Amino acid sequence: MSTFNLDIVTPTRNLDEMVVSYVRCPGLDGSFGIMANHQEGIFSLDIGVIMIKTNSETKYLSTSGGFAEIVNDGVCILVETVESASDIDIPRAEAALQRAKDRKSSSDKENLDQVRLENALSRALIRLRVAKK
Ligand code: ATP
Repeated sequence: MSTFNLDIVTPTRNLDEMVVSYVRCPGLDGSFGIMANHQEGIFSLDIGVIMIKTNSETKYLSTSGGFAEIVNDGVCILVETVESASDIDIPRAEAALQRAKDRKSSSDKENLDQVRLENALSRALIRLRVAKK
């Protein structure tokens, strides 16, 4: 299968460049796949799972969103956070999930930042999903 280079960068980490055959990203308008010779462009990414296929394995990463830039010779994913299953601290994600659920059911709805709450909930759920893959 045709391959291309994939770079994943966060403000604090630069993952080793990978040679991959397929990447599935959580786009803001729904997830989308990238294969070799994909149309160039910059796409916004949402909180979700990045699936990466090389010629020998499939990997899953959790992300809290950012951008994917597709250029002629490869793809660069610029995201706020990224974790593989082995990076994920499950008790921490479970605690974050519980905090978000507690806030959701709190009676103080007026001071609740709904978007922040839903994002924290999604990040925790996605981390738990990737950790269990
Ligand atoms: P928390 O409330 O536990 O900090 P969060 O969703 O607010 O969770 P982020 O702001 O998305 O955390 O991430 C901050 C940093 O902590 C990032 O580097 C991210 O990769 C890391 N991180 C967050 N949660 C976990 C986790 N459960 N396991 C490992 N690393 C995590």
